[in-house]
Amino acid sequence: MPGKYESLVKKASEMGLKAHFLDTNNIPIENRIALKCAYGCKSYGKTLSCPPHIMSIDEFRKVLAEYSSAFLLVDEHDTSGVTDILEAWSKFRKESFQKMFELEQEAFREGFTFSHLLRPAACNECEVCNLKDCAKPERRRFAPEAVGINLQKAMENAKLVLEFCKPGKTLCIGILLIE
Ligand code: SF4
Repeated sequence: MPGKYESLVKKASEMGLKAHFLDTNNIPIENRIALKCAYGCKSYGKTLSCPPHIMSIDEFRKVLAEYSSAFLLVDEHDTSGVTDILEAWSKFRKESFQKMFELEQEAFREGFTFSHLLRPAACNECEVCNLKDCAKPERRRFAPEAVGINLQKAMENAKLVLEFCKPGKTLCIGILLIE
């Protein structure tokens, strides 16, 4: 990892986030990820941070090509005592987004003016998304998978394993594009 990112990684660690450096060539984008959004996700179309309300996979491919560096951000939550995982998931992703958003802002202050966060899962900044004009446009971000990123492979490329259906812990994962 280039030394210019050291203070950012330290800041992430202070916030409880693990930041793994990624060359953007190691962030795979696949058209088939769209199947998981459009046919099977009950949140499809329910927020302005989800397809079809965001840029297309092809548009994002072009955007990603203009970046060379990114951080895979991982926030681990202990869910061993959780009985209602859906309610907890909403709270966890909100907390994790707040930390990752702060990191994006810090990156900007450090001179990485094109830093941009792909947030952990769909936006839940409002109780219900109004699906018209975003109520908090400065906080509107979409998730990696919403633009076709295969997060499992991206994690493997960072020497991490994404495990599904593990009741003891829940990972909130985001990607911070940085330049
Ligand atoms: S900030 Fe509110 S209005 Fe904007 S995308 Fe998120 S939930 Fe929707």
